[in-house]
Amino acid sequence: MVPPARPRKLAKVPFVELADGRLQGVVSSGSDAGRVYVSSIATATYAFACSTNNNRPCGGARGTFCNHIRALVGEAVLQYGAERVARYLKADTPEGEPDAPRLVSVMTATRPEQGDTSAAAPVFSRFLRHLAYLELEPTTAPLPEMQWFPPTRTVA
Ligand SMILES: [Zn+2]
Repeated sequence: MVPPARPRKLAKVPFVELADGRLQGVVSSGSDAGRVYVSSIATATYAFACSTNNNRPCGGARGTFCNHIRALVGEAVLQYGAERVARYLKADTPEGEPDAPRLVSVMTATRPEQGDTSAAAPVFSRFLRHLAYLELEPTTAPLPEMQWFPPTRTVA
């Protein structure tokens, strides 16, 4: 068997959940394979937060959703279906059936406030428990095994 020339990249959004009144999850950095972001959007207010696993604020999440939060919405729609995500966030899409771009534009149009990042630590530790469950070393390095990361189905 010939090993792959280089390891596959970390899944873009390896962890997403609808829990604690938020859509929240872990998004891998586009530029740094060793860094992940913990991103969230609160139900109804759409207050958003994004910070690294080391609790540094995301430079892109100033005033509006950063690319990590947009990626999180996209992954949630894939895993839970757009209707369910829209219902959970209490986001109406008057222009048509909900999908990820419509949900993002409806939420950002309300000029949501930037929430605090206090939820980041528990979300990140749940993500690490997921890794431990799969008997992987808790690490943010690229892991080919994470390609088989099971979707979460946790709903509060
Ligand atoms: Zn971000």
